[in-house]
Amino acid sequence: MFLSAPEADELLQRSKLMICELYAGKGGSRGGANRKEGNNMKDTYGREITYLRLSVTELCNLRCRYCMPEDDAVKKRHEDMLTHEEMVLAVRAAASLGITKLRITGGEPLVKPDIVSLCHELSQIEGIRELCLTTNGTLLPRLALPLREAGVDRLNISLDTLDAEKYRRITRCGELSQALQGIECALRAGFEKIKINAVLIGGFNDDEIPALAELTKRYPLDVRFIELMPMYDSGDFGPEAFIPYTVVTERLPELEPAAADGGVAKLYRLPGAQGNIGLISPVSAHFCAACNRIRITADGKIKPCLHSSEEISIKGMSLEEMEQTIRRAILEKPQWHGALSYSERSHANRNMNQIGG
Ligand code: SAM
Ligand code: SF4
Repeated sequence: MFLSAPEADELLQRSKLMICELYAGKGGSRGGANRKEGNNMKDTYGREITYLRLSVTELCNLRCRYCMPEDDAVKKRHEDMLTHEEMVLAVRAAASLGITKLRITGGEPLVKPDIVSLCHELSQIEGIRELCLTTNGTLLPRLALPLREAGVDRLNISLDTLDAEKYRRITRCGELSQALQGIECALRAGFEKIKINAVLIGGFNDDEIPALAELTKRYPLDVRFIELMPMYDSGDFGPEAFIPYTVVTERLPELEPAAADGGVAKLYRLPGAQGNIGLISPVSAHFCAACNRIRITADGKIKPCLHSSEEISIKGMSLEEMEQTIRRAILEKPQWHGALSYSERSHANRNMNQIGG
């Protein structure tokens, strides 16, 4: 474990104090947005689309086996990617159509040199009430506080194992200590309700379900177990790797149901824990009927559905053109993502680092 319980408590108290001083009158979810009511977009299945995941880069400082090939040979040309200004324009267009929650993802968003200024600009966009970011955490020691100051409200941090050797194996190159330091620095910077994302991989980390879940007792964190999704070219996992979320409830019989928070995870809690355990089941029990999201990739493609091959480009468009195109993409959102299994792979035709999760 990276901190003792008293150390963690002290850290939390200190960070809260520091943040009160730093952010007096600022931060948190933005309640004051005054987007015109009545602009909310529904798709053809009646789902209100309020959540945009924006991938800001395909590049990453890790090489997780389930996410991308080791040799990142499919690098795109710089001029084919959305510029900083186009990303801001795309979020403005999406916000005008009713998007209120924005998640920055990648690749690894923190390898993008202008990530802090980009987050600052995105946090100022009228209508965006919640700015979240998903990261592998390894660069948070340097960037947690600048991101908090830039207006990022919430962090999800990926961590599949607490074993340094296994961390190096699954990420092909990563150092567990850097990810753990990243989590500490995020707590210290005042981020609350941090979610730790662990991809459930049979034969790799199912033996660590109790240890990962235990983090919710020691820290004010949620831990979410996500079923492994069979992407286009993500690793050489055999059928045994694809285990359902119910493995978690079997391994942790003491779990108690927790109140839903409007997200896609089924929520539980260990008795006496500070945070929830979330179970995310895109494969064994899809949640497409409640899907409220669209995605924009770093190369400027709107993906109405994560696992569909449908992509609509917004690269090079004006604000008005982007608005029209995002509207069209929402109306073309499919009803569900189709069957996924070891033998039925995603139709996305991209790996996860090229979509953003
Ligand atoms: N680099 C950041 C990170 O790792 O958090 C953000 C991008 S990553 C693509 C977003 C999320 O997708 C991570 O939580 C990662 O674990 C998850 N992910 C990637 N490939 C996956 C797969 N094949 N199945 C399930 N989750 C996957
Ligand atoms: Fe990089 Fe995140 Fe993919 Fe791992 S999951 S390779 S950290 S983008």
